[in-house]
Amino acid sequence: MMRHFGLLTCLAAGTCLFSPSVMAEPVALLHARLVDGTGAAAKPDMTIIIDHGQIVSIGQAPESGVRTLDLHGKTVMPALISDHSHVGLVDGMTTASRNYTRAIILAALEQYRRYGVLTVTALGLNKSPLFDQLRREQHQGVNPGADLFGVDQGIGAPGGMPPEAMVDKMGHDQIFRPHTPQEARQAVDRMADEGTDFVKIWLDDLHLTNPAKPPLPLLGAPVWQAAMAEAHKRHLRVAVHIHDLDLAHQALAHGADILAHGVRDKPVDTALITQLRTTGAWYIPTLSLDESTYYFAEHPEVLSQSVVYDAMSPALRDTVADKNWRKSTLAKPASAAAHGALAMNERNLLALYRGGVHIGFGTDSGATPLRLPGFAEHRELVLLVQAGLTPLQAINLATQQAAALLGLQDRGVLAVGKRADLLVIDGAPDRTISDIDLISQVWQRGTPVSDGLVPKGKTP
Ligand SMILES: [Zn+2]
Repeated sequence: MMRHFGLLTCLAAGTCLFSPSVMAEPVALLHARLVDGTGAAAKPDMTIIIDHGQIVSIGQAPESGVRTLDLHGKTVMPALISDHSHVGLVDGMTTASRNYTRAIILAALEQYRRYGVLTVTALGLNKSPLFDQLRREQHQGVNPGADLFGVDQGIGAPGGMPPEAMVDKMGHDQIFRPHTPQEARQAVDRMADEGTDFVKIWLDDLHLTNPAKPPLPLLGAPVWQAAMAEAHKRHLRVAVHIHDLDLAHQALAHGADILAHGVRDKPVDTALITQLRTTGAWYIPTLSLDESTYYFAEHPEVLSQSVVYDAMSPALRDTVADKNWRKSTLAKPASAAAHGALAMNERNLLALYRGGVHIGFGTDSGATPLRLPGFAEHRELVLLVQAGLTPLQAINLATQQAAALLGLQDRGVLAVGKRADLLVIDGAPDRTISDIDLISQVWQRGTPVSDGLVPKGKTP
């Protein structure tokens, strides 16, 4: 009992929030409601024994002498995994190349962790060698924060996506913009040599996202197809940024492995479902991306919730509190377009889910000041349920399926032999998905690393 108390004291004091090595001594979590990530219904009153960072037993009573933690009334579920985020782009209200620093990236990875996201995939616009170095360090647990995977730079269009204006002074160290198939192959080879996890290609003219502006030039088909072929030659999977159904079809026809966003211009057809199913390609809807365009302008009252307030920079809080900013944001054609895009995205997600397509979990968090690391993932869960999934199905996407997209066998579900990357929640997110905001403990590799989002004094 003293040791149990000691653990919580350690958390309350704000120390012991980071341990580079796993806890050597076993611990038993008692009387927990277990949501294991597979989509199975919650199991009441479970005992989870953790040793050396892994789950070694579920369901059995603890051996005598094992340190215990009573989680009566709480739900334990796997940590969340993002298949589509970005790091090092945003600082306050700026999105700029100069923000790609170790300090800014590690602060974001700590924020993801506090919000229960323990694995983050930064899908392009990363500078090597810093990104490659940080990935290695996060894999080894050298720094506090989420584990990190991703795409080094990625392949954009000359004069097109991702727009130069989106990330100020973004140079060739952050994005390749090949003009020829030969340049595209060289760009892929460079990323492959640096050890990228995937290749990313942007196929979007942004005309429906920014209806007030002229469409951006697209990558030439021979160029992006050469990049895709070269990636596969180097045994790398290709994630493609798409918005429109036609380009989604084209990308899949040439071997795209992951559609990194949902189709938002028109309803998906049976041909797309068949393409996704026969190729086994993944689909990441990123529902909260479009919602982020208007959400805080429409709902400034959420600033009073600590789960929102704490996720924001002081500069963003000031912005959201500014009536003129809210008014001008909501008047923009892009906000109206985003409402339509979200509705279409939700409808398509449900059709593809019911069609048996592999669905991943991502948000594009970290790509703009309005897509908040960690909070965006909580909104994504809520929107998946709004789209028609059950809370258990949404959680399954954000855990087991998200890990499967990344090819990670060691996480995503709570089962014997898996990493003890888990969340303790003062609620039941499998019944009420917004209870994901009630994280009271985050455990990473078997060690409590954060006292989560519930104000102190409420833990047992
Ligand atoms: Zn993105």
